Order: sequence, then C-alpha cells, then structure tokens
Amino acid sequence: MKYHCIGIGSGPSNLSVASLLHGQHDIKSIFFEQKPAFSWHDGMMIPGAGLQVSLFKDLVTLADPTNRFSFVSYLHQHGRLLQFLNARFDQVSRLEFRDYLKWAAENNANICFGERVLEVDFDGGAFVVQTTKRRVLGDNVVVGVGIVPDVPDFARACLNDSTHFHVNEFAAKAGVTAGKRVLVIGGGQSGAEVVLEMLRRGGGQAPAALSWLSRRENYFPLDDSPFTNDLYTPTHSNYFYEQDEGFRRAFIKRNLLSSDGISECTLRSIYQQIYSLRFIERAPIEISLLPFREVRAITQDGERWSIAASHLGANKPETLAADVVIWASGFKPAPTPFLQPLRERLELEGEEIAVDRDYAALGKLPRNRSLFILNGIRQQRGLADPNLSLTAWRSQIVIQRMLDVPRVAHLDAAFVSWAPLAAARATSRQPRREWA
Ligand SMILES: Cc1cc2nc3c(=O)[nH]c(=O)nc-3n(C[C@H](O)[C@H](O)[C@H](O)COP(=O)(O)OP(=O)(O)OC[C@H]3O[C@@H](n4cnc5c(N)ncnc54)[C@H](O)[C@@H]3O)c2cc1C
Repeated sequence: MKYHCIGIGSGPSNLSVASLLHGQHDIKSIFFEQKPAFSWHDGMMIPGAGLQVSLFKDLVTLADPTNRFSFVSYLHQHGRLLQFLNARFDQVSRLEFRDYLKWAAENNANICFGERVLEVDFDGGAFVVQTTKRRVLGDNVVVGVGIVPDVPDFARACLNDSTHFHVNEFAAKAGVTAGKRVLVIGGGQSGAEVVLEMLRRGGGQAPAALSWLSRRENYFPLDDSPFTNDLYTPTHSNYFYEQDEGFRRAFIKRNLLSSDGISECTLRSIYQQIYSLRFIERAPIEISLLPFREVRAITQDGERWSIAASHLGANKPETLAADVVIWASGFKPAPTPFLQPLRERLELEGEEIAVDRDYAALGKLPRNRSLFILNGIRQQRGLADPNLSLTAWRSQIVIQRMLDVPRVAHLDAAFVSWAPLAAARATSRQPRREWA
C-alpha cells in the first residue's frame, strides 16, 4: 500500500497533522502509534494539573479555526461549551485536554494504535516503512516520536519500581511515598506538581518528610507575559531558525524559564500549603526546600538512599538520606533507531537531524520526498519545538510542503521586529539554508 503521508507516533504533534489531513480524501495518510491506546503523559496526570498554554493552541485552531478537531468543537460536541465558559478556569485541566486529544485520536480512522515503526528506508522512489505488523510505502514520512524521561547516567543504573524512579511514573507509584522520607530532584513544573500533590495529602497518605532539591538558584516561575509569549510565534521561530548555532544555543539558555519555569499558580499553591501545614494545621511533616544544589551521586544504604549533593553557591558537599527518590529531571528527545537505514542520507546539526525551513530533513532526498522532524529539533527551531504552542502552525507548513502549495503567511505578522530591520527583508529572500 502506498501513502502520501506516513506518520510515526501519534502524540499531539502528529495528531495535529492527522487532524488537519482528516477528510482530505486526495491525500492518503496513515499514522502509527506504538501504544495500544491513546495516552498523553498519563504517568503524570495529577488531579488539578493545568495546561501551560492557551486552549487555542490545540491541534488545529491556529491553522484552521473551523476544523472539527478543535478544543472548542470537542467542548461543543460533549455538550459543555457554556458550562466551560461559565466556569472561567484560569487554565484548562490537563486531564480534560488529554480527554480532548483522545477524542481526536479515536475519531480519526487513519491512526493505528499498537503498531510500532521498526525501520524506515528509501528505495529511490519512496520511503519504505516497516512496522510490527506490515510494510508500507510513502511519499513523505513525519517523525513525531516525542520525548522520553531524562535521568543522569549515574542514577539510571539503580532506578527501581518502588523507591527510585522518574516522575513520569509518579501516578502509578504515588502510594509508595506514604509515611516515607521522600526526596524530589528537579525544580521545574513536574517537580513542583508532585511536591504539591504530596503536600496536599492528608493523614496516613502524607510523607513523613519531603525534600525538594533544585539546581536552579530558586524555584523560578514560568514567564507568561505577552512579550515573552511572542517568543512562541511563527515570526520568532523563523527568526530563530535563521541565526547561527552559537546564538541559538545561548538564546535557549537565556530564555529557558519561558518554557521550563513553574506556573505561578503552582508556586503560590505550594507556598500556601506549606504555610497552612506549618502554622495552621501544625502537621508533623518535615519539609526541606533545597534550591541551588546539584546531585552528584546516589547509593543504596540498606533500606535507604544516600544522596551526595553539592551546594552550588558555597561549593560545599551535602549528604541527604531518603526512603524514596523521585527524579523530576526532565525529558529528552526520544531516540530514533528506526531511521538507521537513512543515516547516510541525512545531515546532522549537533545531535539533531538538520532540517530546512519546512521541518524537512536536509540531505540526499528528492524535494518531493520529505522526512519531516517534529519535536526533536529545539536547537534549530527554538523553545516552542517541544511544546504545544506552534503545533498546528507547524503541521500546516508540513502539509503545504507535502502538497507543494505556497505557504499561507497569515500568522507570520508579529508586534516585535525580532530580526534587524534591514536584514529582515534580505533574510526572507536569502534564508540561511536554502530550501531543499
Ligand atoms: C507532564 C507533561 C506535561 C506537559 N504539559 C504541557 C503543556 O501544558 N503545554 C505544552 O505546550 N507542552 C506540554 N508538555 C510538553 C509535551 O512534550 C507536549 O505537550 C507533547 O506531548 C508533545 O507531543 P509529541 O507528539 O511531540 O510527543 P509525545 O506526546 O511524546 O508523543 C510521541 C508519541 O510517539 C510514539 N512513538 C515513539 N516511538 C514510536 C515508534 N517507533 N513507532 C510508533 N510510535 C512511536 C510514543 O508512544 C508517543 O505516543 C508537557 C509534557 C509533559 C511530560
């Protein structure tokens, strides 16, 4: 069977492409998802957790506001649009957004669950995609395999099921922290959410002691102000893409908190909960907040974990003890071993597959046969690449390239002139890298 578009992975990135292609009968598409049924970071579905982007940054709205797979359409179809408006939530619940994504996936017959892609090759005319169930041919392949937990090498070897795990598994293992001395490592949103969840537990479910260690100098908020959010626009993404590698690396470092900081409402809830536990309820839980520390080693000491850390300000060693250690140390791009047969054809930029402005891999492939990379190219496309902000816009670019139609540029106008004024025009004529 030959397809115009074969998607690998069906998380939000490819689900967006699939949703925009749905109903376009002249484009034959198929999307393979290794999981048996839809899920979206289910190991971290903590009640009360909210989406960190606007509801309009759903699968389709920024590209096609009238598409049947919008979040508003989901609310309408489920008979709760008015109640949603009346509730005036500050954030969309992550559980509800997950349900929306699941609804979009389950109403799209082009998505195949329980089918992992094992290998992608190119036979000179088409991509050859081997899954766990079949072999198919495609003109274009869209890789959207997302992210996997990131734990330092020294800790990975001694992870286990019950007392030492990544935060990605918290929902299933939350019960093991009751009455225990717990250490959470990582000062981003995931770490904050599990700390808050444990602080909110009452009676026998609460930990005996809770320590929260972060490499950052403080528990810093996500900057959600308008001009910072302008970094998550097509204009900025295109400007970022045109810059040299050194600038891009430094930019990401300088502006990391605009995506990796903690939502202000989560920070306030944690602070208020500690206040309440300490001064109002006088709860026996022992709470230690330990910013500006880095964990250097972890060893098992009988039933306990011994953690060697360093205070980064004083450069002094510290030793901590815990019954349960939870790494909230972030995520990294998922590996792509299935691309091995194509490696010789593909250009790299650092550890990433190099892409052109249309997210198509650069290398020895014809222009009308593209391998698109979604959410695996943060060093080239900037901070928005791994999150939901530009998902629909990016999908539209990919689809326009597949169809070989001109770009629709209605989202490209921004308030801020990110590029130098004189260079802005020159840049649009002469991109840093020519389209393939
Ligand atoms: C807890 C959590 C909360 C988040 N909240 C937000 C938020 O509020 N706002 C925001 O903008 N971003 C958020 N993010 C960022 C997150 O990366 C994006 O929301 C989104 O999940 C990215 O979608 P994706 O499709 O690129 O990757 P993923 O969601 O990781 O999906 C990739 C899919 O590919 C599948 N796959 C992998 N390999 C194969 C293969 N060989 N064959 C077939 N299938 C394969 C995987 O099973 C997976 O389902 C959050 C991340 C986490 C961890």
